[in-house]
Amino acid sequence: METKVISIKTEYENALKTAGRLLNEGCVVAIPTETVYGLAANALNPDAVKKIFIAKGRPGDNPLIVHISDLSQLQPLVKSIPGKVKIMAEKFWPGPLTMIMEKSDIVPDVTSGGLDTVAIRMPENAYARDLIHTSGLVLAAPSANLSGSPSPTNAKYVFDDMNGRIPLIIDGGPCDIGVESTVISFTNDKPRLLRPGKVTVEEIEDLIGEISIDDAVLNQLKDNEKASSPGMKYKHYAPKADISIVKGSLQDFIDYTSDKDSFVLCFEGEEDNFKNAVTFGLADDTLSEANRLFDALRELDEKGAKTVYARCPDTKGVGLAVYNRLIRSAGFKIIDLQSKENS
Ligand code: AMP
Ligand code: MG
Repeated sequence: METKVISIKTEYENALKTAGRLLNEGCVVAIPTETVYGLAANALNPDAVKKIFIAKGRPGDNPLIVHISDLSQLQPLVKSIPGKVKIMAEKFWPGPLTMIMEKSDIVPDVTSGGLDTVAIRMPENAYARDLIHTSGLVLAAPSANLSGSPSPTNAKYVFDDMNGRIPLIIDGGPCDIGVESTVISFTNDKPRLLRPGKVTVEEIEDLIGEISIDDAVLNQLKDNEKASSPGMKYKHYAPKADISIVKGSLQDFIDYTSDKDSFVLCFEGEEDNFKNAVTFGLADDTLSEANRLFDALRELDEKGAKTVYARCPDTKGVGLAVYNRLIRSAGFKIIDLQSKENS
């Protein structure tokens, strides 16, 4: 299959019309959102949704997020709308927040990965919202990478993974945020964070009170443990290189890596200390780290890195999202120089 690319910068109307037509015909189209690029299809058409799983190579039990452009599209997709969801929607939608509720019968099982719940988000990206609105559809749209690879934050990386697999990529330039949405479940009494993102735990708790944080956010699931969010159990965000996170000061990190013939993933401004370095944002600006992380992981592959040692991000605020992605890309390998010092 030939994969066409249309840029919204030069051909906005054509991008809307062509994508809308293909989506209504049951095809898959890659689209920009403010988080990462999404692989979109009509969420209510099981045959169209199946094509997303095939294009990504995504396991069938890993559910998709359904994207809406207007609050009126929410009610038909769910059994009921919890009060806290209304409060959250008012503050954070449109934006990088996904909320999970009991699904209604119109949501096909293939979209929800066989679960009786559905994840819903209203993106802020103007093109994504226009497309949902003008196509008259709600769109299932997981990240537009091959399953297991880092999520794509620009159209080139989508093309690298999806060329020949889908008919159309809409190029909307680089994504504003660079990591996927915050995912929070409202299917139990206490809301539960399943995936951290730009909307932080602190912001959510200020608005609706205490939430719980799923174990899988920071820890590796044990073999027999059931994932609240199926996506958490799969290998994720992994470049070809073998990554380890190194906890400790910059000086400890320099000492530890100095005799190793490897790459480092460090913060901006630190790169002159190393022979082969790729940077991922500033040490004291977690938003800039979120913005750079997936690009940095792909750059490491482009440079042919085999072994990579990564600086450890702070886990406060948006840093929790950065750490959550990096630790998965490192297969949970952490070298703790701090605890060696303390012991
Ligand atoms: P992606 O589409 O790549 O951004 O991934 C979506 C994430 O949301 C995955 O980690 C899914 O497992 C999770 N997710 C989607 N729907 C549900 C659901 N109904 N229950 C729990 N997790 C979900
Ligand atoms: Mg993904």
